Amino acid sequence: MAKRVYLLSEARGLSRDLLGGKGFGLAEMAAAGLPVPPAFIVTTEACRQYLRTGEVPGLWEEVRAGMAALEGLAGKPFGRGEGKTPPLLVSVRSGAPVSMPGMMDTVLNLGLTLEGVEALARATGNPRFAWDSFRRLLAMYGEVVLGERAEVFEGMLSALKAERGAGTDAELGPEDLEELAYRYLRHLEARGTPFPLDPWAQLQGAIEAVFKSWQNPRARTYRRIYGIPEDLGTAVVVQAMVFGNLGEDSGTGVGFTRNPATGEKGLYGEYLRNAQGEDVVAGVRTPEPLERLKGYAPGLYEELLQVAERLERHFRDMQDFEFTVERGRLYLLQTRSGKRTAQAAVRIAVEMAEEGLISREEAVMRVEANALPGLLRPSVDRDKAPKPFLKGLPASPGAAVGHAAFTNEAVERFHAQGLPAILVRPETTPEDITGMYLAKGILTARGGLTSHAAVVARGLGVPAVVGAEAMRVFPDEGKALVDGVEVREGDLLTLDGGTGEVYLGAVPLVEAAGEALLEKLLSWAEPHRRLGVRANADTPEDARRARAFGAEGIGLCRTEHMFFQEDRIPWVRRLILAETPEEEAEALERLFHFQKEDFKEILLAMDGLPVTVRLLDPPLHEFLPPLEELARRAEEGDEEAGRLLRRAEALKEVNPMLGFRGVRLLLLRPGIFRMQLKALLEAARELKEAGHDPRPEVMVPLVADPKEVERARALAEELFLEYGPIPFGTMIETPRAALLAAEIAPLVDFFSFGTNDLTQMAFGLSRDDAGKFLPRYVEEGLFPFDPTERLDEKGVGRLLRMAAEEGRKANPRLKLGLCGEHGGEAGSVRFVADLLDYTSASPFRVLTARLAAAQAGLARGTPEPA
Ligand code: ADP
Ligand code: MG
Ligand code: MG
Repeated sequence: MAKRVYLLSEARGLSRDLLGGKGFGLAEMAAAGLPVPPAFIVTTEACRQYLRTGEVPGLWEEVRAGMAALEGLAGKPFGRGEGKTPPLLVSVRSGAPVSMPGMMDTVLNLGLTLEGVEALARATGNPRFAWDSFRRLLAMYGEVVLGERAEVFEGMLSALKAERGAGTDAELGPEDLEELAYRYLRHLEARGTPFPLDPWAQLQGAIEAVFKSWQNPRARTYRRIYGIPEDLGTAVVVQAMVFGNLGEDSGTGVGFTRNPATGEKGLYGEYLRNAQGEDVVAGVRTPEPLERLKGYAPGLYEELLQVAERLERHFRDMQDFEFTVERGRLYLLQTRSGKRTAQAAVRIAVEMAEEGLISREEAVMRVEANALPGLLRPSVDRDKAPKPFLKGLPASPGAAVGHAAFTNEAVERFHAQGLPAILVRPETTPEDITGMYLAKGILTARGGLTSHAAVVARGLGVPAVVGAEAMRVFPDEGKALVDGVEVREGDLLTLDGGTGEVYLGAVPLVEAAGEALLEKLLSWAEPHRRLGVRANADTPEDARRARAFGAEGIGLCRTEHMFFQEDRIPWVRRLILAETPEEEAEALERLFHFQKEDFKEILLAMDGLPVTVRLLDPPLHEFLPPLEELARRAEEGDEEAGRLLRRAEALKEVNPMLGFRGVRLLLLRPGIFRMQLKALLEAARELKEAGHDPRPEVMVPLVADPKEVERARALAEELFLEYGPIPFGTMIETPRAALLAAEIAPLVDFFSFGTNDLTQMAFGLSRDDAGKFLPRYVEEGLFPFDPTERLDEKGVGRLLRMAAEEGRKANPRLKLGLCGEHGGEAGSVRFVADLLDYTSASPFRVLTARLAAAQAGLARGTPEPA
């Protein structure tokens, strides 16, 4: 039978999948000679078997053997003190193969019994410490293993403090803590879940509870949000306790080998004197920066610097480590690759490559391409901002404006109304994950830069300010108080997670400046990119911005917005109302001039690069005022409104998305087609005459049949006769067009996959309405992700692949592009990287597309020229 319990010294070389991230990190650190308290690891395989069958035969014998080894290494007997020797106590810690911070629970001080407390008090000469350790064990075990709510224990602690007139925990003496421990014991007894006063029973209960915690709702939610597989299971680490709460020469802390917000190299982190680890992570007390150790414990600081250096050399990445100091001796308790902001990710990758720690290719692979838009996150415009009314710690960069929301439910309410929310909490816990996910910003009163709120916000890319201690939050009453100023639910707040400043009301924001480091990273990435990257841009400003981000043209220029502008809309409406050919001709003539000027500007902004113009796509009634408004104006005697009303009623569609639009409209109102294409051709001609290099392409939307394309092409050819041809293409955005790709391909020069509509039609859902159920689908685990955000490879991807391959076969010169929202999503870009010639993304996501395409090239190996 396979071994399921490994000492750290036996675990070297085993996989992270088997040992879990925590166990793996501990084994590696121990092997690297770093000071780690003795421990053994129960494998993920044992967890999986336990969850399948409810038992693991032979496991407890193995655990006993492991514990015997720990007793030997630590030189203390488990749970029992002997004379001056204190009892061996352990922590029971969970650790999945993938980091899931705060999702599963750890029990500390395990093994203590009433006799053990006495022994511990004797051995340390510190009865207060002994009873404090015991009451902590009771509360943690009571919560994690026996299922009592944490607030019950907190409430009993508060009650005792009130009785004793104590302001803080520190004012409670050993007898008070003893009294508290007995109250906890009696409470657990009374609720029918007595605390086991036997070390082995405690150990077994805790290990099983860790196994089961894999299935708890918080852990499930976290896995869904981050796409972590359900079947990994968690390992359990059983580790000899070291104590950070033995006095002023003890403490516990968290360190980063580089700054997780900026990426700057250097030891960075927080320390809490005379405390147990839980106090830091829970954000209950605000710790001090590690820097301060230089002042009162320079030796320790120096030691931490060396540890940081060795960790980085060993793991070749920025590490986030936990440590405890017991009476001046440093112990490492955990290490993992640190979560970081997009800014930090880029800086760390580039600088590590320059330090020779990793290769340039590794640097390119290490940056999450989808996070790049976060680099371009705005900040508060300091020149226009009033004085901040509150200041906290800058935990996750970016500025956010939103409505104060004090509960998950409040955030969800605002979200449902399409309003931005700022989640305001005393501190956050894993229960708040939904609110944090949906909020535009997070603000907490307590906790440091490594508190739950800060870590999760950075992971989610949500701007956050934490530890704003001048604020008191009353979630139940839906309000917060800052120096007598009351903030109520719905009040507008602005926060800047880069500075820690918080403002009342909506404050103007400024966009971020470009990053030199990012440019360097992209310059390393570019040689590995084969896929072209264009932008979706409808305006000259968007075109210029996209070009600055490195777009190699426009893959989708929508023309409808040009129709909406104030000076044009009257002519669009005349066009719609036209009853005679003359009326129609006049309206089209006016619109022609507007369009030509628009096209000239865009072609100029993209001079020398292709610009794909999509002819009119939406149904005509979208250009009319709402029916109710027309009806009201008609009633008031407005004649034109009356005429528009009758037209609008005639044009009204039950299902406009599937209605009279796109190529259908263009073929049946060919005047619009001719006007638009002629405006494009003439714009190009004029620019060329002025010495520029315009590269227009024209594209028809929504085709479902080759006949439509044939007819559209014939219309275009009439104008090409006069102006010379330009590339003519079609969108592939109906499933039928994808199915008939082989017949359509010979009729065109390019396909552009409109994956927005293709997804909607393949799934039979509308993006505008899916907000009501798609998020729930993802939450319930029915879909692994939202297919409107990330391309569904299985279904929509299959249509795309088939159409691409059959289209190319039928027309070897066919060019292939993608222009849906997916064109700027890293996973989708990687999927099409070998399939298509280019992708087209919104300007801010051009960087993401470039990096993701390069990563696809690197992952495949040798780059091929385009
Ligand atoms: P998490 O997965 O939430 O980080 P951990 O297992 O790391 O949980 O435990 C939480 C805290 O408990 C840690 O920050 C660490 O400081 C403390 N802790 C865990 N094991 C020990 C131990 N053997 N001795 C002292 N403190 C410990
Ligand atoms: Mg930890
Ligand atoms: Mg479309």
